[in-house]
Amino acid sequence: MQFRDLKRQYQALKPGIDEAVSQVLEASSYISGRQVDELEEALAEYVGMKHCISCGNGTDALTLALMAWNIGEGDAVFVPDFTFFASAETVAFQGATPVFTDILEDTFNMDPDSLERVIQAVQAEGKLTPRAVVTVDLFGLPADYGRIRAIADKYGLYILEDAAQGFGGTYYGRRAGSFGDIAATSFFPAKPLGCYGVGGAVFTNQDEWAALLKSYRVHGKGSDKYDNVRVGINSRLDTIQAAVLQVKLKAFKDYELADTDATAAKYTEGLKDCVKVPVIPEGLSSGWAQYSILLKDEKERGEVQSYLKENGVPSMIYYQRGMHQQTAFKGYHFYGEQFPVTLSVCSRVLSLPLCPYLTDEDQQKVIRLIREKV
Ligand SMILES: *Cc1c(COP(=O)(O)O)cnc(C)c1O
Repeated sequence: MQFRDLKRQYQALKPGIDEAVSQVLEASSYISGRQVDELEEALAEYVGMKHCISCGNGTDALTLALMAWNIGEGDAVFVPDFTFFASAETVAFQGATPVFTDILEDTFNMDPDSLERVIQAVQAEGKLTPRAVVTVDLFGLPADYGRIRAIADKYGLYILEDAAQGFGGTYYGRRAGSFGDIAATSFFPAKPLGCYGVGGAVFTNQDEWAALLKSYRVHGKGSDKYDNVRVGINSRLDTIQAAVLQVKLKAFKDYELADTDATAAKYTEGLKDCVKVPVIPEGLSSGWAQYSILLKDEKERGEVQSYLKENGVPSMIYYQRGMHQQTAFKGYHFYGEQFPVTLSVCSRVLSLPLCPYLTDEDQQKVIRLIREKV
């Protein structure tokens, strides 16, 4: 059994993908081919944002957004403690200071009360300028945008939505990638919409930021490529990846997301009486980057994971530690936060095999094995 069955997905989409890739090879337009523009248009329409600017990966997508807002030294950017390293790394890489918030156990997403506490603590200290909140749509579920937007507005902060895992998730009818003032996503192969290498995209409704993002993406270019008006980076989505993503986006929209959602519902049905299953709040849906359960404690998680492994079932621990525990952030100021929820979740979380091509038989096996052990 595969954790995320990319082979089976390729077999299902092979004719379309082979044809799309071969068209790029025939045209030999490997960078900035027409497929890149077409994909950006399709993504912007799907997500519901005016502009989509594709780029090299999700980490660069976050970096480009921070660059467009000129976030750097002396700025505070609020990031959930429980996330992939890049959500906070990019902030520190720009010279700004990531300030961590705890999360909510039900959704694994940013705790708005913790956010407001740390904003006030940063203000009270008076050393850093609060600039932005990085909201992560963790495991595919959009963050609590109702409350977080109200807090961001109250303190004059931008929202940078890290939708690397959120693609496909919805919040009262709107899609992930449309909740931030700027949003970033990733097409890393294991993400909900993955390419066959690396890729990412940035979304915004603001024309001015879109122009900046396009410039920073290609060496700070001005009106032409060799007129460099600012210092940027080199971060393009290549044409082959765009062609693969065109085919995969269609399948994602046509049936993959719906099938994954149905499979996730079967996990919930089969496990809800014996482990803590993910909570999807009313009005929201998940893009299901992961299906993550919570066991009683670290010991029980270890036993379940070993038992699954002995029986040929892969599972993953996302994440082993909070951002505040990462060696790279040693010595950072935590503004009084203790992160009790992150700490608890890190010791109990376990992600199960999930993808649109998981067979019913395999899934029933996963459910049976977990039930035998807890
Ligand atoms: C994967 C991921 C990223 C980074 O995406 P890459 O394309 O791997 O650079 C950023 N944030 C989160 C939450 C992710 O899961």
